Amino acid sequence: MGRAFNFSAGPAVMPEAVLQQAAAEMLDWHGSGMSVMEMSHRGKEFISIYEQAEADLRELLAVPSHFKILFMQGGGLAENAIVPLNLSHGGPMDFVLTGSWSQKSQQEAGKYGPARIAATALSDNFTSLPSPATWQIGADSRYVHICGNETIHGVEFHELPDLKALGCNAPLVVDFSSHVASRSVDWQRVGLAFGGAQKNLGPAGLTLVIVREDLIGHALPHCPSAFDYKMVADNDSMYNTPPTYSIYVAGLVFQWLKKQGGIAAMAERNMAKAQLLYDFLDSSSFYFNKVAHNCRSRMNVPFFLRDESRNEAFLAGAKAANLLQLKGHKSVGGMRASLYNAMPLEGVQALVAYMRDFEKSQA
Ligand SMILES: *Cc1c(COP(=O)(O)O)cnc(C)c1O
Repeated sequence: MGRAFNFSAGPAVMPEAVLQQAAAEMLDWHGSGMSVMEMSHRGKEFISIYEQAEADLRELLAVPSHFKILFMQGGGLAENAIVPLNLSHGGPMDFVLTGSWSQKSQQEAGKYGPARIAATALSDNFTSLPSPATWQIGADSRYVHICGNETIHGVEFHELPDLKALGCNAPLVVDFSSHVASRSVDWQRVGLAFGGAQKNLGPAGLTLVIVREDLIGHALPHCPSAFDYKMVADNDSMYNTPPTYSIYVAGLVFQWLKKQGGIAAMAERNMAKAQLLYDFLDSSSFYFNKVAHNCRSRMNVPFFLRDESRNEAFLAGAKAANLLQLKGHKSVGGMRASLYNAMPLEGVQALVAYMRDFEKSQA
């Protein structure tokens, strides 16, 4: 069996060309006589890899010069603590609950200050997004947190909220772990965005933080030094040893993204891939998706068989057809197809073809 179409929610599919390049360079990077994972993070070889990766990412995501790009560790979950440690001043924070990940963020932030709920879609079982006009944001809010794409519930903000238009001057914090680099970001509306790399950027171990400069330098006194954005920024993400190999592979992904035509081209492809699957689900009486049309995720598509007793057979048949990791998250059940940047259209076509065949085989 060759390489499969891998629909994992994360760690997730990588571009095959990137894996091949990493393999070719594994033992001896560019004639240096070393593997990247054997290099000093302060040596000129790794510094060149790091600088290229940062510059490529800045160009790809059109990150303005008054934002810092930080390469950290700890994943999205660590940022749930690191953000309040750096941005809250111990004051109140407002959270928009749209699924499991924003819930987790709100709970963790409560350790560091009042973590208020500005809005929640819990009563809808997280199948819709509360309209920003209804959010209850305190005038004393230190920041407003949203999860741009809820990886488990399959709900995505297709437009970032304009907090200023809502009369709110607090910065917007976006957890973009599972849709970073899948579409453009309106940085005018963002104070800070963070995400683990393992969904859409590269291997696990690297956490990306992009933060407006004026938000740096306000960490609480007990914030660990390695998690103080000022310490990280002042040391070019090398206050402690960064996840060098993950940065290198993410850098290869950035180059691959540029070759694909950049983020605008990826966004178009992602839209087409998701549309193919949603159109099929909506036309089916055998399968369905529960999420409101205006906020369906392009990255993570949870779906269900109307007859759940067929789930095991569906997954076994998918595996035999080289379509992997389609089982839904245990909290939601059913199936989930993650369609990150590295998933080709052919993968979604193969999935839809399999779903048709499976339905016929059950008649
Ligand atoms: C996966 C994920 C996380 C958790 O990331 P870790 O790297 O496991 O800490 C947080 N938020 C979102 C939206 C995610 O998809």
